[in-house]
Amino acid sequence: MRPWLGAAEAEAVAEVLASGWVAQGPRVAEFEQRFAVAQQAGHAVATSSCTSALHLALVVAGVQPGDDVLVPSFSFVATANAPTYVGARPVFVDVDPVTGNLTAEGVRAALTPRTTAVIAVDQGGVPVDLAAIRAVCDDVAGRHVVVVEDAACGAGSTLRGRPVGADAEVAAWSFHPRKLLTTGEGGMLTTAHADWAQRARRLREHGMSVSAAERHASVLTPPETYGEVGFNYRMTDLQAAVGLVQLAKLPAMVARRRELAAAYTAAIAGTRGLRAVADPPWGTSNFQSFWVEVLDTHDTDRDGLLVRLADAGVSARRGIMAAHRQPAHADAAVTPGGLPVTERLTDRTLVLPLFHEMTDDEQARVVDVLVAHDHTRPKVDATR
Ligand SMILES: *Cc1c(COP(=O)(O)O)cnc(C)c1O
Repeated sequence: MRPWLGAAEAEAVAEVLASGWVAQGPRVAEFEQRFAVAQQAGHAVATSSCTSALHLALVVAGVQPGDDVLVPSFSFVATANAPTYVGARPVFVDVDPVTGNLTAEGVRAALTPRTTAVIAVDQGGVPVDLAAIRAVCDDVAGRHVVVVEDAACGAGSTLRGRPVGADAEVAAWSFHPRKLLTTGEGGMLTTAHADWAQRARRLREHGMSVSAAERHASVLTPPETYGEVGFNYRMTDLQAAVGLVQLAKLPAMVARRRELAAAYTAAIAGTRGLRAVADPPWGTSNFQSFWVEVLDTHDTDRDGLLVRLADAGVSARRGIMAAHRQPAHADAAVTPGGLPVTERLTDRTLVLPLFHEMTDDEQARVVDVLVAHDHTRPKVDATR
C-alpha cells in the first residue's frame, strides 16, 4: 500500500495552519457530516483511530466487564484488543474459508448467555454479510446482542448496493495509511442511534458536556460538566482537512483498485495452486488487501512464494494475522471446534502490492513471478 496524497491535501493542511485552529474544530465537523452522507450512516463521530472508535463503540453499546464479545481471530489485533478495554473477554470465532469473515452460522454456534456483542470485520475490504449476522443476534433467547462492524478496511466497499456500515447499529472506521482513505492516523464511529453518537462525542473529549470548539466559539463560555470518565480520542482539524480531500478521492481510489484487482484476478485465473480473494455474492470489495491463498497444488508454499517475489524485487506481505496465536491473547477463549480455517488462511495467504498509483508495468512484474511456476499455463499475460 502507498497512500495517494498530493497538492490538494497539502493545500488543505496549509489553510488549517493559517486559520490558527488546528485541533478538533470546524474541519472535523465537516468531515463527519460528509462521511456520514457518503456512508449513508445516521451519525458520524471522528476519532483518533479505529482502535479508539472500537473502544467507544463497545462503551456506548453497553458492553460490561465480564461480558463475552465474539470476534474473529483472523483480523488485525485491534479487533481482539477492543473488548479488553471495557473489561470484557474476546471469544474467538472461526471465519468463512472463502471470504475470511465471520458467518451467521459461526456466530449462532458461538453465542452464549454471556455474549453481549459481536465484532464483525469487513476483512481486507471484503464486506461481511452483516444482515445475516444481525438476524441471528437480534433475538438471542429474548435478548438483543449488539453487532459492531469493524469497517476499518471498508470505506468504498458495498453490501447489497449500499456502502458497508450503512446498516450497522455502530461501525468503526480507520484512516491509517494502510487503508484507502487516510488522515495519517484517524478513525470514525458511525451509528444509527443519535444517543450513542452523542455519548461517543462526549466520551472522545474527556466526557465534557460542552465541546472545546463550542467554548472557543463564545466569549463568555458556559460552564462545562464532566458526567463520566472520558478519553482524549479527538481527531485534529489538520487531519480532517486531509480527510475531506481524501473522501472526495475515494470513488477514484476504489475504481483504480478494482481495476488492478481485476487484472490480478484475470492473470492468475487458472494458474495452478493460487486462489485470489473475490467479491462475495452480497457485495463488492474495495480490495483494501488483495490476498491470494497458496494451495497444496502449488509447487511451493506461502513463505516460498514470498521469497520468490522478494528475489524479483517484489515486496509482498504475509496475509492477515491470527490474534489467538499472539502472546497477548494466548489465554483468550476459543469457540468449540477451534479455528482451523483461521489457521489455514493465516498460514497460506499473502497480500500482493496494490496501490492507487501502481502502473500496469509494475503489476506485470508481480504477475510474472506469480505465473512463472506454472509451465502448463499458456504464455499469455492478461495484464498486457
Ligand atoms: C487497521 C485495522 C484496525 C485498526 O485501525 P487503527 O486506525 O490503526 O486503529 C482495526 N481493525 C481492523 C480490521 C484493521 O484492519
